Amino acid sequence: MSSVISELSVLVTDDSLTQRQYAKALCQDLGVNSLFDAANGMDALDVLAANAIDVVLIDLEMPIMDGVELIRSIAQKKIKTSVIILSAKDPILIASVGTMAEADGLHVVGTFQKPLLPDALECSLLRFIQDTRVTAEPKKSADIEVTALELSQALANNELTLAFQPKLTVQGLLLRGVEALARWRHPTKGLVSPALFIELAERHGMIDALTHYLLEEAFNYKRTWQQYGLRFHLAFNLSPLSLADSDMVDWLCKLTEQYGIAPAEITFEVTENALLGELASAIRTLARLRLKGFHIAIDDYGTGFANAQQLSRVPATELKIDRSLVHRASTRPQQRTILASTVDLAKNLNLTTVAEGVETEEDFKILCELGVDLVQGYYFSKPLFADDLLVWVKTGLSQMRRQHEKK
Ligand code: C2E
Ligand code: CA
Ligand code: CA
Repeated sequence: MSSVISELSVLVTDDSLTQRQYAKALCQDLGVNSLFDAANGMDALDVLAANAIDVVLIDLEMPIMDGVELIRSIAQKKIKTSVIILSAKDPILIASVGTMAEADGLHVVGTFQKPLLPDALECSLLRFIQDTRVTAEPKKSADIEVTALELSQALANNELTLAFQPKLTVQGLLLRGVEALARWRHPTKGLVSPALFIELAERHGMIDALTHYLLEEAFNYKRTWQQYGLRFHLAFNLSPLSLADSDMVDWLCKLTEQYGIAPAEITFEVTENALLGELASAIRTLARLRLKGFHIAIDDYGTGFANAQQLSRVPATELKIDRSLVHRASTRPQQRTILASTVDLAKNLNLTTVAEGVETEEDFKILCELGVDLVQGYYFSKPLFADDLLVWVKTGLSQMRRQHEKK
């Protein structure tokens, strides 16, 4: 966690030397490496002009230029920074300065009466990270083109990585697991979507290499989370081609053993359409995976043509209902009917139901009414890189629960 905080640059503005040293020591204890200080608003503006500062701690009472004037100048000069407001004065005054700063367009991450406490500072810095983090959503831009040669070089150069999207229980919004989603950090084209390179890998005989590489990366993260005491499940997407690979199951078992991971905490997601081709060999692989204790999810359900009978033959444990049935179901009666009957079907087949692509509160409400088990979507969290996921688990998740408890 502190590794994320360590990358921040913080400016402490206070006329009292003791207070400045105290605030700087708190920042240092939290791991902030890049620290600046100023004794009044004028000096603070000089520091801000010369350095990129993420967060400024502002004491309201200072000579030469006080905190309120400093806040106004930061807003007028459109300086890109966030603020934490501090004062020994009464909390109502501090809060009203905070409201004023927000009205001026500033990003306020905390308002506190002195003395500043370590927990309050840590929460504010984490909030800054959470509010400004870059999500791991790649551009789905049609004008990005990547070639098989570039992809094989990317594999060799470790440019492929994973983002993780939380899967939450509808009851209580508990973190049940995360789905690993492939990302390619292309050196010149930015973050490339799996929609652009998974199929390429399948067509050019690279999917096994890609799957092996990403699974080891995923297991590495899972092992690290376990070391932190976090035991949520991990879901991983398998290409239909992997289901035809007879060595896959043995390799997977060896890998879980090597990483000290329980198969019962791993779910493999396979798309509905993967089951329409070589059904016999797919079922053989899936059945073996189940016997070894892994979970199996049928992904993107509702986009393909699998019927209830085909579905009942697959040794799955989970049904992931596609976003096309989930999102906006509240305003489309027909879609809602199909969604409801899909949930019923899954329940009759004893499958855990997961709704994908939950984007709004209205989407979520319907899923609660229909008794869906798990939810996943932008409404809760976009896919996040591992560091940001930990921040979200520590702060964003409980914030969201509190919001929902009030409703
Ligand atoms: P998927 O398995 O259905 O994954 C969910 C996709 O929906 C992800 O796109 C995710 O970013 C996106 N998504 C999540 N919540 C929302 C939402 O609320 N609204 C909208 N509009 N979208 C949402 P992504 O990451 O671009 O992945 C696309 C597909 O690529 C995945 O679809 C999966 O089929 C495939 N894929 C991703 N990673 C891997 C992998 O490691 N191996 C294989 N074989 N396929 C992968
Ligand atoms: Ca999936
Ligand atoms: Ca899906």
